[in-house]
Amino acid sequence: MTVVVARGTVVVAESCTACGSCLATCPTGALAPAPRRPAVRDRLCTACLACIEVCPVDAITEAVGPR
Ligand code: SF4
Ligand code: SF4
Repeated sequence: MTVVVARGTVVVAESCTACGSCLATCPTGALAPAPRRPAVRDRLCTACLACIEVCPVDAITEAVGPR
């Protein structure tokens, strides 16, 4: 039997002010600079949630469901 474990990832909302704090905080490089707001490289995200803690405008939320 194969057990599939869903790993978490995060979503960046339009309320992002592009301050860059999350980019500097992410330990795995899962957040990449992008024109309007950071892009999330889902495969690199370990769902540590550090970016959610550091975002000053609460623009990052944990994605729900398997990916
Ligand atoms: S949850 Fe952790 S690993 Fe994922 S993007 Fe945020 S800081 Fe990076
Ligand atoms: S910390 Fe929040 S406001 Fe700053 S770039 Fe990341 S998502 Fe945007």
